[in-house]
Amino acid sequence: MSEKTTVNLASAFANRGTKYPYGCRFDATEALPFVNARAVSAVFDGEYCFEDPDVDVFGNITVHVIGLCDRCGDDADRIFMVPFDQTFYKDATSDCYTYNGGRLDIEKALHDELSLSLPTLLLCRDDCKGICVKCGANLNRQSCNCDTSEPNAFSVLKDLKF
Ligand SMILES: [Zn+2]
Ligand SMILES: [Zn+2]
Repeated sequence: MSEKTTVNLASAFANRGTKYPYGCRFDATEALPFVNARAVSAVFDGEYCFEDPDVDVFGNITVHVIGLCDRCGDDADRIFMVPFDQTFYKDATSDCYTYNGGRLDIEKALHDELSLSLPTLLLCRDDCKGICVKCGANLNRQSCNCDTSEPNAFSVLKDLKF
């Protein structure tokens, strides 16, 4: 497992179409879409392949995130797995991932994939019930007797003054 996000393409250039295993650790905190969170660890594990003249990189990103639940404020400790599959173009001019020479840095592509693929909210668990808007009870730990039902169409109409 490399500590660098740079793939050395020397072997791949000599063996077009051959898949090489590649893994790296990287710093993902900046790429997280969450407000109160940091990445404890982020790992890419996959393969790369020279498809003359482009290079394909594919595999999975596993990111361990700790922070505060965006719905109830409790501690959140989650692991997300995100599939990664990108083509890097040689000397491309358009807006796509590129590589130059014998090295390919996948860090930006890893960050972009996380930004796009992670959920927008960090939750302590997928079915977090959140906080009661009236009494502030954490509904994961206790229930309350507040009436938080939305006003229905009839009660809204009834209150309208013509
Ligand atoms: Zn929560
Ligand atoms: Zn309540």
